[in-house]
Amino acid sequence: MKCRICEKKATIKLPQYNLKLCDSCFLDFFKKRVKKTIDSFKMFSLYDDILIAVSGGKDSLVLWSVLSELGYRVSGLHIDLGIEGYSEFCKQKVLDFSESRGLPLKIIGIKEIFGVGIKELARIAKRASCRICGMIRRYLINREAKDFYCVVTGHTLDDEASSLLGNVIHWHVGFLKRQYPVLEENGSLKRKAKPFSFVFENEIVFYAKLKNIDFVRERCPLSKKATSYVYKSMFSFLEERMPHIKLSFYKEFLKRKNYFFSEEKEQLKECKICGYLTVTDICNFCKLKKKVEEYQFQKA
Ligand code: AMP
Ligand code: ZN
Repeated sequence: MKCRICEKKATIKLPQYNLKLCDSCFLDFFKKRVKKTIDSFKMFSLYDDILIAVSGGKDSLVLWSVLSELGYRVSGLHIDLGIEGYSEFCKQKVLDFSESRGLPLKIIGIKEIFGVGIKELARIAKRASCRICGMIRRYLINREAKDFYCVVTGHTLDDEASSLLGNVIHWHVGFLKRQYPVLEENGSLKRKAKPFSFVFENEIVFYAKLKNIDFVRERCPLSKKATSYVYKSMFSFLEERMPHIKLSFYKEFLKRKNYFFSEEKEQLKECKICGYLTVTDICNFCKLKKKVEEYQFQKA
């Protein structure tokens, strides 16, 4: 098995591109593709300050590594979700990574804000923990990005293709309109970019291995029933039989998006408490804060 580029011994097989590469040509190939996504979607430049949201999982840690290697000015943000037996490990992996590479990192804790972690918050709000967690993360990441040009997350092609499939199955037109590798700044909502939108999970695993990036391998214990895993495993089934299908499904959607889904913007207004843009008078984050305060008042 020879590397397609340098003809030395190949070590990596990427069925999605029908490509075999050696370690060093793979690293080069991977970085070039990420750079191409950043440039072709005009996500940000080498002069912008970027905030990267890092969970401790492979996607965001690998993204942090690649962006730093490419010379971007990136700072990390980790949200400690206060999930017992899980969040401590995530935080430690992020801390170890930033310290070993000398990269700036800020950590904020849900427990310091609400007094309790995600599991308890979901119980108080009577909502699924993944929904509460997603809402809080989006809010806090946006808030912490105030002085940055752009926020980046480690969403991969696997995430994008499977959420696209879910949105199509349920015809969530509002989500379909907003699904794109980059979202422009809109009032208090910061610019958001996903430089791994065209990157497959197996590429990230190879990269992490070659660069000795240690990450949390366990799934969040609160997300065991998340439907996103159902769509992801459906796609893995398809991809195994039809390599490249994930990428073509997502790319073909992007090509046709404006034809099917008009670009008209949703009417958003400022939250009366914090100013965050929302569709209601008070945003979900402030509503949750109020609920928790009432709950604790009744308990006392
Ligand atoms: P997920 O929804 O868990 O697939 O995460 C998607 C992206 O959100 C990750 O790639 C990270 O960029 C970001 N993210 C997830 N969890 C956290 C966290 N606890 N702190 C900061 N960023 C996070
Ligand atoms: Zn608010």
